[in-house]
Amino acid sequence: MTHPAHDAAEPQGSIIACPKCAAAMEQVTVGDVVIDRCRGCGGLWLDAMERERLLASADLVKAADTGSEKIGRELDDQTNVHCPRDRSRMIHMVDLRQRHIGYESCQICGGVFLDAGELRDLASFTLIERIRSILG
Ligand SMILES: [Zn+2]
Ligand SMILES: [Zn+2]
Repeated sequence: MTHPAHDAAEPQGSIIACPKCAAAMEQVTVGDVVIDRCRGCGGLWLDAMERERLLASADLVKAADTGSEKIGRELDDQTNVHCPRDRSRMIHMVDLRQRHIGYESCQICGGVFLDAGELRDLASFTLIERIRSILG
């Protein structure tokens, strides 16, 4: 998927600032996926489809999401967030299967920002939550 170039756009592979705490993010290679993890709050920036690739394996999730859930929860309420790649206002989304998990999503580039601990939480889709999702 390609999008028209934007003046302020940061291409994949460049160092970006955390959309929540503004600390520099570091690039981390997890399996064959290169993600951006915040040195400040431990939040994860995942470009389009990276989240799905990580969620395919519990080991990848563990290696990617190493931040503190406590800090992640503190930042969870911060929803006025702009995409670090194209500067557009991100949309607050709620995971359809686990509604306690909220995250920010960019409608332009498809990237998502997950607070520390949220990827681990998404991966731990428990039996009770499975049953609940079946029952609606
Ligand atoms: Zn941060
Ligand atoms: Zn974006």
